[in-house]
Amino acid sequence: MTDATRLVSTWFDGHSPRAQACELRIERGELVLTVDGHERRYPVRQVRWAERRSHGQRQSELPDGSLIQHAEAGEWDAWRQASGQRDGVVVGWMQSWRATLVAMGATVLFLAAAWTWGVPWLSQTLAQQVPRSLEARLGEQGMRQLDRLFLQPSALPAQHQEALRARFKLAVERAYPQGEAPAWQLSFHRSKALGANAFALPGGYIVITDELVKLLADQPDALTGVLAHELGHVHHRHGLDLMVRASLVSALVGVVLGDASGFLATVPATLATQSYSRDAERAADAFAARLLDQSGVSPSVMVAFFERIQREEKPARQDRDGEEDSALPIAISSHPDHAERIRFFREWKAESARP
Ligand SMILES: [Zn+2]
Repeated sequence: MTDATRLVSTWFDGHSPRAQACELRIERGELVLTVDGHERRYPVRQVRWAERRSHGQRQSELPDGSLIQHAEAGEWDAWRQASGQRDGVVVGWMQSWRATLVAMGATVLFLAAAWTWGVPWLSQTLAQQVPRSLEARLGEQGMRQLDRLFLQPSALPAQHQEALRARFKLAVERAYPQGEAPAWQLSFHRSKALGANAFALPGGYIVITDELVKLLADQPDALTGVLAHELGHVHHRHGLDLMVRASLVSALVGVVLGDASGFLATVPATLATQSYSRDAERAADAFAARLLDQSGVSPSVMVAFFERIQREEKPARQDRDGEEDSALPIAISSHPDHAERIRFFREWKAESARP
């Protein structure tokens, strides 16, 4: 037996328990089995090939119900390989429920890892690559949607709006005398849905509600701090990160389910359904504290804001009775780390914030 593509093996005809010597070879997609000088031919794809296990004999079933048994696993595998029959391994694997479970487990693990580490890392990286012009367009589009869904025109007098805007502008200019602060534009809106609130969109669109202006009427510095927090989200591109993440997730879902069509269309709505991570909130708080400090205002002015917004949120939540806590998760909110955030602003020191 020098020809590796021929194998002497044992055959059972399926009727009698008598083992018969046979010779096997593969020829043009057919298994050729020779017994007593007679050839039998079977299409390779109709053979249920032996599962590839590490030990034990190899047993393959033929379409006519007969059987090949080969005691030497290594010899069998070598013959299969020499005959160019690699698919048998795959077919064997697919027939094995253990292998199927392993494959499913590996897929789940891969997706979990992609979800936990891959998606956040990739979205942060991509969010930093988005050109300013696209960022501005996304912000504009998001602004239009949110305006339609949640916002009404402000009832604040124009002079009042202008005074608050000027105050914030001055603080930014003091903190960033070289003009290196991110671009921003502030608009005032009334909002039944959001109540006392503020949020920022990509491209520097910052919105503050009349309700929040009233809540902090005697605390204009705290109001500046809230706007600085929102500018922090703009600076770190957190809104963009959310958008990119949502498109990655739906792309991932699209790959898994085989349909990725139209996932981009839902991107602006993301801002209404996703919320910033705690890390993102901390980064925006740190940005706000630094900006306040560098503009000559103590970051502790923010304590009043957090205390009031929490008082405001509690009864509102009970009133709404089972409805969602906030209609807009990216909007500012005192929870979940209310006490921690108060402590952060109260105890903030310029030295400790600089690496
Ligand atoms: Zn925030």
